[in-house]
Amino acid sequence: MKPSLAVVGGGIVGLAHAWSAAERGWKVTLLERHARAQGATVRNFGMVWPIGQPAGRALDVAKVSRARWLQFSKATGFPVSECGSIHLAHRPDEWEVLQQFAAVAPEMGYDCEVLGREATLARAPGANSQGLLGGLFSPMELGVDPNQAAADLAAWLTERHGVTIHWNAMVGAVTPGPQVQWGSQKLSFDRVLLCSGSDFADLFPQAFAGADLRNCKLQMLETRNQPGQWRIGPHLASGLTLRHYANFQVCPGLKALAGRIAQETPELDRYGIHVMASQPADGRVILGDSHEYGDEITPFDQTIIEDLMLRELRKVFHLPDWTIRRRWHGIYAKYPAGYAFRVDPIPGVSVCTGTGGSGMTMSFGIAEEFWNEEP
Ligand SMILES: Cc1cc2nc3c(=O)[nH]c(=O)nc-3n(C[C@H](O)[C@H](O)[C@H](O)COP(=O)(O)OP(=O)(O)OC[C@H]3O[C@@H](n4cnc5c(N)ncnc54)[C@H](O)[C@@H]3O)c2cc1C
Repeated sequence: MKPSLAVVGGGIVGLAHAWSAAERGWKVTLLERHARAQGATVRNFGMVWPIGQPAGRALDVAKVSRARWLQFSKATGFPVSECGSIHLAHRPDEWEVLQQFAAVAPEMGYDCEVLGREATLARAPGANSQGLLGGLFSPMELGVDPNQAAADLAAWLTERHGVTIHWNAMVGAVTPGPQVQWGSQKLSFDRVLLCSGSDFADLFPQAFAGADLRNCKLQMLETRNQPGQWRIGPHLASGLTLRHYANFQVCPGLKALAGRIAQETPELDRYGIHVMASQPADGRVILGDSHEYGDEITPFDQTIIEDLMLRELRKVFHLPDWTIRRRWHGIYAKYPAGYAFRVDPIPGVSVCTGTGGSGMTMSFGIAEEFWNEEP
C-alpha cells in the first residue's frame, strides 16, 4: 500500500511538495483552508528569478525549479514565458555593479551579459530611455501568471497525479500519530507537511521560539492591460534592486551604491522599496514593491509607499499606460539564513516555509531536495 501524506496549505510550497511526493509513490491529500489559494502565491509578480539566488546550492535549486516549471508547462500547456530579465542601470554606480557582476557571472553558474544602451532599449521597450546607461540581460528567468498558476497546478495534480485536494478545509490541529484534524474529520497519515506560509506558527508555536523567521509585507500595484500588443520585454528590475538580491553581494561596488541610495533617498530604505515589473500574457503590468517586517506590519496599505514606488517606477520604466487597476499587499515568511526553513515539531510532522521573496523561484527545487532526502 502507498504511504500516505497530508500537506497543509495550497500555496506554491504545498503544491510543490504534493507533486514531488506523488511522483515518488505517496498517496497525497492536500488541505487548503480557503476555496482557492489566496496567500503569497497569488499575490506575487510571477517571476521565476534564478539570477537573484547566490551562487552554489541556492542557484542549483532555482535551476531545478525552473526546469520543473517548464515540465509543468509542457505537460499541461500552462503558459510559462521564457522572457528572461533585464536589470537596468540609470546611474554610473549601477552600471559599474552590473559590469562587475557580468565579469564573474559565468564561472559562478549564471548566464548573462551586459548590453549597451541601444541594445537594452531594443530588447526592453519597457525601459525608460532617459538617462539609461545599459542593462544586464539574463535569459534564465521565467514568467508565470500568479493568479492562475496555483489553480492550474492543483487541477493537474488531481487529474494527473491522483492528489486528493480538500478546499475549505481549515486544519485546526495536528497531533501525535500523526493525526490531522479539519472540520469534523480526524485522519491518520504516515507523514504530514505543514506548508502554511506566513501562518507558520499557528499549529506548533513552540517550534518557532528563537527561530530567525519573520513575516514581511509587500505592497503591489497592477496597471490595466497595455494598449494593443505592447510588451515590456523581459522582466524588468531597477538599479534599486541591486541591493535587494543576494547574487550582487559579490560586487565590490555594491556597498557604495547602497550608501548613495541611503543618503539620497532614505525614504526608500525606510519602506524597503525597490522596483520591478512583470507582464502576464493579457498585457497588464505587475509593479512593486516595498518591504515591512515583523511588528511594522499593519492591515493598512499606505499611500506614501504607493507614491514612492510610482515615483521610482516612472524614473526607470516606460509604460504607454500607467493607469493603476488593482492594488494589494502580500505577506510571506522570510528566513534570512537560507532559502527555506524546516522544523520537525513532532515525529512524522515537518513544517516547510520561509521561502521569502523567492517561493515561485525555489519551491519546486526545494520540494525535490526534500523528497530526494526522504527515506
Ligand atoms: C507581493 C509578493 C511578491 C512576490 N514576488 C515573487 C516573485 O515574483 N517570484 C518569487 O519567486 N517569489 C515571489 N514572492 C514570494 C512567493 O510568493 C512566496 O515565497 C510563496 O508564495 C510562499 O508560498 P507558501 O505556499 O509558503 O505560502 P502561501 O502562498 O501563503 O500559501 C500558504 C497556504 O496555506 C494555507 N493555510 C494556512 N494555514 C492553514 C491551515 N491551518 N489549514 C489549511 N490551510 C492553511 C493558506 O490559506 C495558504 O493558501 C512574492 C511574495 C509576495 C507577497
